[in-house]
Amino acid sequence: MIYLNGKLMPIEEACIPVLDRGFIFGDGVYEVIPVYSRRPFRLTSHLLRLQHSLDGIHLKNPHCDKEWHDLIAQVIAGNDGDDQYLYLHITRGAAKRDHAFPHNVTPTVLIMSTPLLPPARELLVKGASAITASDNRWIRCDIKAISLLPNVLLRQMAVDVGAVETILLRDGFLTEGAASNIFLVKDSVLLAPPKSHLMLPGITYDVVLELAAANNVLHEVREISEDELRTAEEIMLTSSTKEIMAITRLDNKIVGDGEPGPLFTRLYQCYQHYKATVMRG
Ligand code: PMP
Repeated sequence: MIYLNGKLMPIEEACIPVLDRGFIFGDGVYEVIPVYSRRPFRLTSHLLRLQHSLDGIHLKNPHCDKEWHDLIAQVIAGNDGDDQYLYLHITRGAAKRDHAFPHNVTPTVLIMSTPLLPPARELLVKGASAITASDNRWIRCDIKAISLLPNVLLRQMAVDVGAVETILLRDGFLTEGAASNIFLVKDSVLLAPPKSHLMLPGITYDVVLELAAANNVLHEVREISEDELRTAEEIMLTSSTKEIMAITRLDNKIVGDGEPGPLFTRLYQCYQHYKATVMRG
């Protein structure tokens, strides 16, 4: 069952008008929220980031937090599987095609659920490959905008060569992945690029930095150069659906000793432990 504009319905019955500005202009924002044991993970942070994205496109939040909580609970209950991920999507609504904002239009609100499967065992044990590319997106990457064409093209570059992610560099510095945040390890210190308008402030990124702090993992948030990325001892990516994953090949060269490294293993275990604790309530 999905939620669309006030109603729960089977996805086959859901219809969006052709003039919806999401369809015509990509004029909307979204969130992806993991659900473990039927409980949304870090919901408060996801709703805060949604508000930031809505503010960024000057769209009034169609629901208060309590309403979002209720709608999300209904969608979780309407779908099978204890572990799911929710896709929330809000567009400026349907109006005659004109770039300028329309007046008196009701936003389109969609929430759908997909089963959340853990990453393939082999990727966890052996790590994944990534490639690099120049970050050619706009400079409001902090807004989780539905207009994802640059990200789609960048991710496809990785898929075309059998890699899992494309790691982006702007002006010689690491920004993030096409659909993930990137960490690396240098001199046994975990490094993460600082949040800015050039990257999405990942919810998993925050969790990993909190776990590093709570578990005495040396870490630093600072600009990371291309050279540091290429000579890193470890590289890892984070996202709500992939959690933490080691990158063991970059542009066809081995990272570190070619296996998921000790900091990855430690943070992965901390993450699983944290998830289990939060889900027990
Ligand atoms: N950066 C980009 C561009 C993303 O699309 C995502 C989410 N897929 C992330 C980072 C990771 O964010 P989160 O941890 O909140 O899923």
